[in-house]
Amino acid sequence: MRVVFLGVRGSVCAPGREFVRYGGNTSCLALSSGPDAAPTLLLDAGTGIRTVTGMLGGKPFRGTILVSHVHWDHVQGLPFFSAGDRAGAKVVFLVPAQGGKSGRDLVAQMMSPPAFPITPEGLIGDWTFHAVQPGHVVVPDFEVRAFEVAHKGGRTFGYTVRQGGGSIGYVPDHAPELGVSADALEALAGVDALIHDAQFLEHERPRAVDYGHATVDDALRLADRVGAASLVLFHHSPHRVDEALDTIGADAAAKATIPVLVAAEGQALDLEGAPPMDRPLPEVTNALP
Ligand SMILES: [Zn+2]
Ligand SMILES: [Zn+2]
Repeated sequence: MRVVFLGVRGSVCAPGREFVRYGGNTSCLALSSGPDAAPTLLLDAGTGIRTVTGMLGGKPFRGTILVSHVHWDHVQGLPFFSAGDRAGAKVVFLVPAQGGKSGRDLVAQMMSPPAFPITPEGLIGDWTFHAVQPGHVVVPDFEVRAFEVAHKGGRTFGYTVRQGGGSIGYVPDHAPELGVSADALEALAGVDALIHDAQFLEHERPRAVDYGHATVDDALRLADRVGAASLVLFHHSPHRVDEALDTIGADAAAKATIPVLVAAEGQALDLEGAPPMDRPLPEVTNALP
């Protein structure tokens, strides 16, 4: 399984020269069965989703978009995803069930006039929207499990994804201080790479709890608790410049007993059941068409 990071920020985009090495797009990961395969599963639809269009080299997207929740930074790229918004595209969009609403209506809450010019029906291509519950999630070619995580302002899921002997835990927005469910601990046990919220630092803890997010130390503790083989710090604060993220990565690596990576746009992890950081990380071009 190949996992490519296309957006690693939380809250809002972070453009500017101080952010170019880690990237400024909001949350999106592209998953495929290997380095030569086209991505068929996208985790979250932040602004990083636009890069998938370039990865597909002019072909339409045919696959699944699975979002952790519907906060802006996880869905705002959706109407700008041109490889999905075109003839020949076939997209299954999955969102955590909440409020008795359909998957379509959960998307339409943020994507309909007057907030946005079009409704979900305005997307070209074959789109279907579904609300999903915790547990097994049907996604072709991948084994996916959803579990509830503590966050604020709406129901939020974390996911584990397994394929070809490799596994990840994807928990972009999470406040472990508010409690970690037995379901989450069980699902995340022994994953090859835990990709986790690391938006705040210890001295910012009051804000982390207020906003329903994790500190870097929370991420380290959870990785240890579930026996993850490696930790990827993710969902960086939009205020965190490149040098600050370098320091955060070095400090975390010094504390950890497992490899720690600071997620950056364009990085790819190839997971085959071994800790991914034992191998060099290949670069992926972010060229847009
Ligand atoms: Zn977020
Ligand atoms: Zn959120």
